Amino acid sequence: MRPFNHLNAASLEEASAALREPGAVAMAGGGDLLGALKDDIAREYPRLVVNLKTIPGLDGIEIRDGKLCLGALCLLGDLSRNETVRAVAPMVADAAAKCASPALRENTTLGGNLCQLPRCWYFRKLLNRFDCARKGGERCFAMTGDNRYHSVFGPAVFEGCDGKKHACIAVNQAELAPGLLALEAEVVTSARTLPIGEFFGVGLMSATVLEPGELVTEVRIPLPPAGTRMAYKRFSFRKSIDFPVVNVAVAILPGNEYRIALGGVAPIPRRAAAAEALLAGKELTPELAAKAGEAAVEGAKPTEANAYKLQLVKTLVKRELLAL
Ligand SMILES: Cc1cc2nc3c(=O)[nH]c(=O)nc-3n(C[C@H](O)[C@H](O)[C@H](O)COP(=O)(O)OP(=O)(O)OC[C@H]3O[C@@H](n4cnc5c(N)ncnc54)[C@H](O)[C@@H]3O)c2cc1C
Ligand code: SF4
Repeated sequence: MRPFNHLNAASLEEASAALREPGAVAMAGGGDLLGALKDDIAREYPRLVVNLKTIPGLDGIEIRDGKLCLGALCLLGDLSRNETVRAVAPMVADAAAKCASPALRENTTLGGNLCQLPRCWYFRKLLNRFDCARKGGERCFAMTGDNRYHSVFGPAVFEGCDGKKHACIAVNQAELAPGLLALEAEVVTSARTLPIGEFFGVGLMSATVLEPGELVTEVRIPLPPAGTRMAYKRFSFRKSIDFPVVNVAVAILPGNEYRIALGGVAPIPRRAAAAEALLAGKELTPELAAKAGEAAVEGAKPTEANAYKLQLVKTLVKRELLAL
């Protein structure tokens, strides 16, 4: 690791002001960031790390105004065990319980989970050996290289630091994203409130639409109507301490309203809109669940190396629907 300055922020205002300066980066639990610093993956090494965990009042879990409100600094371990989260949004608690390792879950946060950078192995290579488009370089190495874990729904296009359009096929693997997307949560930042579907983005060294100095402060989940059933499932190659290759959240609301959200398949977490439309208002049958699995991958454009993900999505969607 190279030297950097460190600021224990005492308030949101202090953190935001420090983070507006070039070369400053926010840190919550450090589960994602410290690895990136240790491996020196970026073009420029951060000058200042701003510790958010010293800001009081950002780790609450409470029901307020018909919403389950989760502070950005809530630890994943706490989310996985909290009785209110378990009762209102069990699939969010389940996702938190599956994330990373027991030790990491006791130190890493909700906000950090949603803002984590992509795991693309070119992006993460030590010492910026692949200076790819997402870091400000000219090309995406995964497009022509090994893309077995990459997007099956094509690239995201974004503006690079040369002002030109670039494409990235890294997926968003944030564990908590599909559950929060299926529950139509909103993300509160230091500047605005966004539906979670508008929160994720693809940009230079960024996986969100946050502006410099803008911080996630809270995630609010509208209380699901009584009788809502929900499930979260992930597929990973190792049983623990492994990122999900594909993760799926499914909710069935009263009146047979279905919500299905997918992670690990596209540059941003994705609602399976075609599957939801196919199921809307219908009683579930095994045949319908299988068709919903097929519809969940409608429009996919996999590569030869990652086409296996389509079968994973189809199976996980079908199984989780039937399990409910
Ligand atoms: C061995 C290992 C296994 C892992 N397994 C998984 C896994 O299975 N699933 C998974 O999803 N993740 C996994 N992770 C990644 C990571 O640890 C978790 O996603 C964790 O939740 C990140 O939270 P954090 O608080 O540590 O974030 P940090 O590392 O502190 O921050 C991550 C990013 O978010 C930004 N950030 C943090 N908080 C905020 C905020 N409030 N507002 C704006 N920006 C913010 C930081 O600037 C940074 O860019 C793993 C990591 C390791 C090292
Ligand atoms: S997929 Fe994205 S992060 Fe990976 S090499 Fe291509 S541009 Fe970089």
